[in-house]
Amino acid sequence: MATDDGAPLAVTLDESRYDRQERVSWWDQERLTAATVLVVGAGALGNEVVKNLALIGVGTICVLDIDTIEASNLARCVFFRHGDEGRAKAPTLAERARELNPDVTIEGIVADVRTFGTGLFLRADVVVGALDNREARLYCNRLAARAGRSWVDGAIEALSGVARVFTPPKSCYECTLSETDWEVLAHRQSCRLLSRDQMEGGKVPTTATTSSIVAGIEAQEGVKLLHGLGPGVQPLTGAIVFDGANNDAYPLTYAPREDCLAHNRFDPISVVDLPPGELEALTAAGLARMAWPEAGSADPLVVELADDQVIAWRCTTCETTAPEHRPAALIAWGEAACATCGEPRLPEFVTSIDLPGPHADRTLVELGIRTDEILSVRRGVEERFWWLAALDDRLPSTWHRATTPPAEAITQAASSAPTAANTPATATTSATATTSAATISVAAESVGGGRNG
Ligand SMILES: [Zn+2]
Ligand SMILES: [Zn+2]
Repeated sequence: MATDDGAPLAVTLDESRYDRQERVSWWDQERLTAATVLVVGAGALGNEVVKNLALIGVGTICVLDIDTIEASNLARCVFFRHGDEGRAKAPTLAERARELNPDVTIEGIVADVRTFGTGLFLRADVVVGALDNREARLYCNRLAARAGRSWVDGAIEALSGVARVFTPPKSCYECTLSETDWEVLAHRQSCRLLSRDQMEGGKVPTTATTSSIVAGIEAQEGVKLLHGLGPGVQPLTGAIVFDGANNDAYPLTYAPREDCLAHNRFDPISVVDLPPGELEALTAAGLARMAWPEAGSADPLVVELADDQVIAWRCTTCETTAPEHRPAALIAWGEAACATCGEPRLPEFVTSIDLPGPHADRTLVELGIRTDEILSVRRGVEERFWWLAALDDRLPSTWHRATTPPAEAITQAASSAPTAANTPATATTSATATTSAATISVAAESVGGGRNG
């Protein structure tokens, strides 16, 4: 087997395994073998998406899910067996899917996607959502917009389903939400601190056939996105709606909404290139000074925290306070109860840190910033984006990866970066970085938009 120009493939592939798909005119198996795809959700859709990606030979697949297998999953999930009840979904799925194809690396991570920072999406070539709730979709959509990454979404109900591709900023999940969707979300968030139980996806009627069809389209769109636009292949823009009961299928496009708040692309992104100990000691003020070295000590700067963070609890009955360091979205309502009196305590929220200001000297860890997060540091209306690049230790070490940025991003990084050392660099994460706190590598890592553009 050889590439178009006759050169031998750099990777070892089973020649006969992929023969039929390689006969598709635009197919590039080498590209798929080199690709990394994140699958969010290991339920009915996730099983089918991973099955297809593994059969196709996508080189690295990482599947996330926090749940365990229940009896009701067994009728819709090809990799789960009688007796698996109680096992974690993602590692079980990964273990079984590896049997399908030894060429492929598949990792199953027990985690809620909302516990990862935006870097998660920068480390994948394509993200495929296999989700059953709006909150996780909103979070994926937000990370996709910031990272400039396309993501594929799927939803099923009875014999109907929809597969969608969102490519920011042209298309956005949040723009598709109806007033009813927002009412449901607002109802769940009325107390701001959510119980995971309240957020569970509804027990909607679905079948194995519907999830096969929708996840099949999702995996196919993922493969198309990995190839990019080209002759004979067009990635989906919008949705394909499938109505299995009435034998109908049709495409749908969504107009982006001007007033949508989810279109903020973080670009260009600079990398905070510090070893782990120094990264953990970085304060909001330290990040702000790193981002704006030319700002005077009296110039007001603002570190936007990317999410609402809870930094303390106050019990008005006991007149006590206790520290906290987590995004509000990850705190269950039950955790508000005071251990002494049982009354609900009041959370103290912060969404941004002013310089100068009372919280400026807190470390980003104390502020509960997620690992691998990207933060915006503002000076007036001008923003600079800094990636606290550290591989989340729940992810496989192979996710220490650098991707090739579009030329446009390199130019932007070079023209507006705050340091003199403007050589575009691939991202080095903190575990491999040996530079001092004073050295910052300029990011060239805002990837994805160019390819799918
Ligand atoms: Zn939008
Ligand atoms: Zn109390």
